[in-house]
Amino acid sequence: MQPEALFGMALGIVPPWEVTEVKLSTESNRLDISIDFQRGATFKCPVCGASAPAYDTTEKTWQHLNFFQYEAYLHARVPRINCSNDGCGVRQVQVPWARAGSGFTLLFEALVMTMARDMPVNVMSRLLSVTDTRLWRVINTYVEMARAKEDYSEVRRIGVDETSVKKGHHYVSFFFDLDKRKLLFGTEGKDNQTVKDFVADLKKHGGNPENISAAAIDMSKAFIKGVKEQLPNAVITFDKFHLIKLMNEAMGKIRAEEAKEFPEFLKKSRYIFLKNPEDLSLDEEERLDSIVANRCRKSVEAYTHKLILQNVYFADNRKEAEILLKQWHRKTSKSTIGLIQKMAKTVKDHWDGILSYFDSKLTTGFLEGINSLIQSAKARARGYRNPRNMISIAYLIAGKLKFNTVFALPT
Ligand SMILES: [Zn+2]
Repeated sequence: MQPEALFGMALGIVPPWEVTEVKLSTESNRLDISIDFQRGATFKCPVCGASAPAYDTTEKTWQHLNFFQYEAYLHARVPRINCSNDGCGVRQVQVPWARAGSGFTLLFEALVMTMARDMPVNVMSRLLSVTDTRLWRVINTYVEMARAKEDYSEVRRIGVDETSVKKGHHYVSFFFDLDKRKLLFGTEGKDNQTVKDFVADLKKHGGNPENISAAAIDMSKAFIKGVKEQLPNAVITFDKFHLIKLMNEAMGKIRAEEAKEFPEFLKKSRYIFLKNPEDLSLDEEERLDSIVANRCRKSVEAYTHKLILQNVYFADNRKEAEILLKQWHRKTSKSTIGLIQKMAKTVKDHWDGILSYFDSKLTTGFLEGINSLIQSAKARARGYRNPRNMISIAYLIAGKLKFNTVFALPT
């Protein structure tokens, strides 16, 4: 057996294609594999499937997986056929080792997609000696192809979450299927247009906005407006984690302000206030005691309101929760601290949506797990600052996309 034939087997090249030449250049660290088709071969029309002989050919090159330190390239003349069937005409045939229009082999692209789940693209770029622009093109193309096959007809309960690509810049909104726990849609922005875009995408994938019965969102006006307009049957639940986060933010500001007055007690105490009392270490408990004993009144008050608000979520049912929330509201609305009053008002303004948690039990809590993945996607897309790339990686890691059909070789 000639070494060429071995390469043919390794590459999965089958008749009428065969490996005709293998050239290894130690100077340029290249492995060049030439492929050609046998004389008299016929090819399938990509439109109708009829067979026809080559009409003419074009030379093409594809980058393949590195062969040890050698960059490997495939070369072939790709035939066009002149199909006699109606509407076909002259067509380029599909080669079995590469996707139409790609400069990489399928195996190379499969490797790119596998690596992209776990590795920043700039690192891949160095490892594979391919520019990141070309890698992003491969990633974006496959994600689009896989997403095109997604069926959203069963989507009933959704959650919306927003994040920034760069701190404070380029917001991206993510829409999740809360039952299947997967990313359905990501888009730039955090206004009500994003909900419109989601609905358009949902329809494109066979979904019906009227079938959406529940939406877990944060208390942003834009999402509330968007959901009310676009998803007429969706009961809104305000995410409990978001509410607690707002409360923590208010508490944090109050503590930071008071720390100027009592630096000896409140300096570097942020983490103590974010913990629940039962999670404090002995040292931390002592510190908290001294904070209480030394009349850091505002911080202690904010901390107490936070704990009581958290406690509402331990209620067994909506009725019980409403009683607890009313008690919390009565106290906070009478607070002399402006930020606490503001919190009280926010809760009052979103009363039903906060309490509908106790009916729907909907939370985007699991998204925190996904979110940390998405945060790392952000890190992976770093240097590109391109929301589209970041969204692609998010689909890749949280979209549960099926790539097996996308990678299927042409027959
Ligand atoms: Zn045809």
